[in-house]
Parts: sequence; structure tokens; C-alpha cells
Amino acid sequence: MTDPQRDARHAARMARKKAVIDAAIAAATDERGLLIVITGNGKGKSTSAFGTMARALGHGMKGGVCQFINGRTDTGDEACFGKQPGVEWHVLGDGFTWDTQNREQDIATAEHGWKVARRMLADPAYQLVVLDELTYLLSYGYLDSDIVLDALAQRPPMQHVIVTGRAAPEALIELADTVSIIADEKHAYRAGIKAQPGIDL
Ligand code: ATP
Ligand code: MG
Repeated sequence: MTDPQRDARHAARMARKKAVIDAAIAAATDERGLLIVITGNGKGKSTSAFGTMARALGHGMKGGVCQFINGRTDTGDEACFGKQPGVEWHVLGDGFTWDTQNREQDIATAEHGWKVARRMLADPAYQLVVLDELTYLLSYGYLDSDIVLDALAQRPPMQHVIVTGRAAPEALIELADTVSIIADEKHAYRAGIKAQPGIDL
């Protein structure tokens, strides 16, 4: 095939593709708040949620973040977003369950955190709410799944919510509009590299 023939075939293929894409875009007319779940064993769940928060703040939207499980207040995420007037950031955990080793204390911490999250999920002023590591509170049974799923389902119609954490329960996946499962192909940690500021915290 000569170059002009190849160019013409490419142009025709792209024109067909554009027609399909334009039709799909035209057909997508709904507008409402989305529930997004980022789960799986690979790295990139929380950072994906915070990247989306940066995007929302860029549009002048108001955001809220509830960080469950994690109790550290020295993360780059918090330092960065803490300076942003558009986002309210709550560190609501006190470590992973194997750190605290105290189920009763974990439940009390989870319930306290849930109060903050529930308030945001009832308030349309929060246009994007990130519930970071919420899945663990459901899979360990620290929170009642029905109560959490109800609050998500009943939230203001235009409010977007992102839930992160491994092993998202099936009912949450079912309720969600967009679900990404991040696979763990490789992680530097397994090569003996410790958590790096700016990358892991
Ligand atoms: P990140 O916050 O970097 O997006 P994440 O939210 O997907 O990670 P978490 O399960 O919340 O992952 O883990 C938080 C910390 O554990 C981060 O320091 C992250 O780099 C690290 N981590 C994530 N995935 C893995 C993995 N598969 N093996 C080991 N460490 C991991
Ligand atoms: Mg995370």
C-alpha cells in the first residue's frame, strides 16, 4: 500500500470511529452524582480518589474527605489539601486493625468516623466526598452495611462519592456507578523498598 492509500484508510477508519464516539456522547445525557468505588490489591486507590479531588477543586467545587483506618496526620495528601479552602479533611482512623488489636476500640473509632461521613452525605454543599478506606469498616463488620449503603443511596442527587479500600463488598459494587479494581502486579515494597514520602505517604 502506498502512503496516500494508507493515509486515506486511516482517515476513513477514524471518521467511522468518531461517528460511533459522537453517537455515544450524544446518547449520554443523564447528569447526576456518581458513586465510584476504587478497590483491589494494587497501589493507586487513595491517590486516585485524591487526584479526583484535585480535579473537582479545580472546578471550584467543595469537597470533603474522611480518612478511615489511617491515623497519620503527616501525609503529603493532608498537607497539600489542608491548604485548600475548598476541602474539609478529617483523619478518623487510629491505625490498621492489626495495629490497634482491639476490636471494641476499632468499632468506637469507626462509629465516630461514620458520624462525620454521614453528615457530609446528608449535605448537598459537599459536591465530592471521599470515603478513604471505608471498605474495611464494612468487611470487618465495624459498621452496619445496610446503614452505610442506605446513606450512600439517599445522598443528595448531585453529590459524587468515591469509596476506596481493598475487598469492596458485593453490595457496594452493585450500588456503584463506576468501579475500578486495581491489580497488584508488582509493588516496590516487596523488593525491600520502604514507604517513600511523596509516593506512599
Ligand atoms: P495509594 O495511597 O498509594 O494510592 P492505595 O490506597 O491503593 O495506595 P492502600 O491499601 O491504602 O493502597 O495502602 C496504602 C499504603 O500501602 C501505600 O503506602 C501504598 O504504597 C502501600 N501499598 C499499596 N498497595 C500495596 C501492595 N500491593 N503491596 C504493598 N504495599 C502496598
Ligand atoms: Mg488507600
